[in-house]
Amino acid sequence: METRSIAIDGPSGAGKSTLARMTAQKRGIIYVDTGALYRSVGLYALRRGVGSKDEPGVTALLPEIELEMKYGDAGDLRVLLCGEDVTEEIRIPEASIYASDVSALPAVRAFLLQTQRDMAVRGDVIMDGRDIGTVVLPNAGVKIFLTAQPEIRARRRYDELIAAGRAVTYDDVLRDINYRDKNDSSRAAAPLKAAEDAVVFDTTELDLNESFLRLIELIDEGLSAKGEIRYKDDAAI
Ligand code: C5P
Repeated sequence: METRSIAIDGPSGAGKSTLARMTAQKRGIIYVDTGALYRSVGLYALRRGVGSKDEPGVTALLPEIELEMKYGDAGDLRVLLCGEDVTEEIRIPEASIYASDVSALPAVRAFLLQTQRDMAVRGDVIMDGRDIGTVVLPNAGVKIFLTAQPEIRARRRYDELIAAGRAVTYDDVLRDINYRDKNDSSRAAAPLKAAEDAVVFDTTELDLNESFLRLIELIDEGLSAKGEIRYKDDAAI
């Protein structure tokens, strides 16, 4: 049977990964966090002392990089970089900046394109990123462009990092969000933008639970419009 996919794109801190993970659990489908792949490439360059904007340097590292995603014992998604679990380390602020910089390099995007497509044929997926609806899965069954005002995104990301025990300030997080927004939207290779057939969903005024309920509605509306509804659990939430 052909697999179907849900594409969720949008700027940093819009809640894509949290909401995609919740949706995957609810629907019993696979969640693919493509940002984690870019972060892993960034981390690899960082560790090797190669500058994030050093195109020949980063390109030369790519053949050494092996990436794998799998579910851990607790049912959480783990990222393996050359066999090493880097799930936590890729979240450090330096890795975020490196990810954003290396993701502008066409060689890096080409390197990760097939990896991402391969992940989408193993089963029904919800995949989040910046160019999933526009480049990676242009035939996705439904495309959502998730966004919120930058200050709200920074606040959410700040709360998340503090809860995880990281010593960060709100101003640093906002600066990081603004840097990545600008970088991601202005790059020539697969810039961040909503696909023409994406539904734009702004969560500025909504809390997590409200966002989730609305997202599920949007997904179901999108999939049923294409006759693609096929969930184990179609009961109302
Ligand atoms: O989503 P996350 O914040 O983990 O992504 C890290 C960085 O990877 C982003 O700032 C973006 O530059 C890049 N990225 C991308 N394309 C994707 C996913 C992430 O360019 N599909």
